[in-house]
Amino acid sequence: FRGQITLDGPSGTGKSSVARAAATRLGAAYLDTGAMYRAATVAVLDAGADPEDAAAVATVVAAARIEVGTAADTEVVRVDGVDVAVRIRGAEVTRAVSAVSAVPAVRRRLVDQQRALVAAADAVVVEGRDIGTVVLPDATLKIYLTAAPEARAQRRAAQLGISDPAEVAALAVDLRRRDQYDSSRADSPLRPAADAVIVDSTELDREGVVDRVVELARS
Ligand code: C5P
Repeated sequence: FRGQITLDGPSGTGKSSVARAAATRLGAAYLDTGAMYRAATVAVLDAGADPEDAAAVATVVAAARIEVGTAADTEVVRVDGVDVAVRIRGAEVTRAVSAVSAVPAVRRRLVDQQRALVAAADAVVVEGRDIGTVVLPDATLKIYLTAAPEARAQRRAAQLGISDPAEVAALAVDLRRRDQYDSSRADSPLRPAADAVIVDSTELDREGVVDRVVELARS
């Protein structure tokens, strides 16, 4: 495979593990754009800026050096040279990331960086929300991954090792809140590109979804 595969969709669809596994099987690079928005959020929190203060957020992110790796088998995420790969998955960052990523200057900056990283690869799987619609409108193959909200909350819980029903319910609430926020955004709403293939993972396990992506890439 040569070219770009975009993999968009809401949280909890298994998008990241599918994107990584598909990239590995296709011998392609992998770019996690969510990790970039999360890294920007670390910079904002560390600067003591209010994530809801768009001007402050824009200033902090403009000055931050955000680095992400594009190898499917290793995760590299750094802010100003500091490894934040673990921290970006924490609750504090997850709570603030939607607000940070809603700031237009943040999106402009990270989208430019995403396009530059993609241009350096012969074959790449790019995971995010707006990759097929905004970042790479001419991508070779566009996939939009969806799943029922309950299935997504369960999957997130399993990932985090959570089994307490109250905590799972709280995850579902947070997922719905983020979906609402992400899909109502004027500049970059969460929706499939007109030419995207929709893959519903509610009834498929991870391998089933990866098989489907690889099959689409090779057809
Ligand atoms: O995919 P992940 O859950 O890591 O993304 C974290 C957040 O980053 C999303 O909830 C969304 O607010 C933002 N995001 C975005 N555009 C992307 C990828 C992620 O706005 N392309």
